[in-house]
Amino acid sequence: MESDEIDKAQSAQEEPDTIFDKIIRKEIPANIIYEDDQALAFRDVNPVAPTHFLVIPKERKGLTGLRRAVKSHTNILGHLLLIASQVAIQEKLDEGYRVIINDGKHGGQSVYHLHLHVIGGKQLSWPPG
Ligand code: C5P
Repeated sequence: MESDEIDKAQSAQEEPDTIFDKIIRKEIPANIIYEDDQALAFRDVNPVAPTHFLVIPKERKGLTGLRRAVKSHTNILGHLLLIASQVAIQEKLDEGYRVIINDGKHGGQSVYHLHLHVIGGKQLSWPPG
């Protein structure tokens, strides 16, 4: 993740409407690569790898971040992981990829609408910083 994302994460907080809600409502453009009734996948505007897309729930239902997950979110959480896998296949990430959820300030979260990052297309290093 770029350091300006970490800078943004210092002051980011939960809000009723995020930039991702505007993408879901098609009020601002995004490069959407998958959509169904529950989820949306689009290319990250600031990619950190040759392939970098986000998978988000269309309805947030309190899921500003993973820390808000409760039992009633079980189905959507599973669905998001399944879509991450299916879109990774669609994107031909045959050699592998990484799925990341940043949570809160220490996690570097800047948008408070749950999202899975899927990155790949090159050999990734470990550990992350
Ligand atoms: O995990 P974090 O909250 O930092 O991730 C937010 C991500 O949303 C960033 O990688 C950023 O580049 C991306 N973004 C986007 N399109 C926007 C706004 C943010 O892809 N319009």
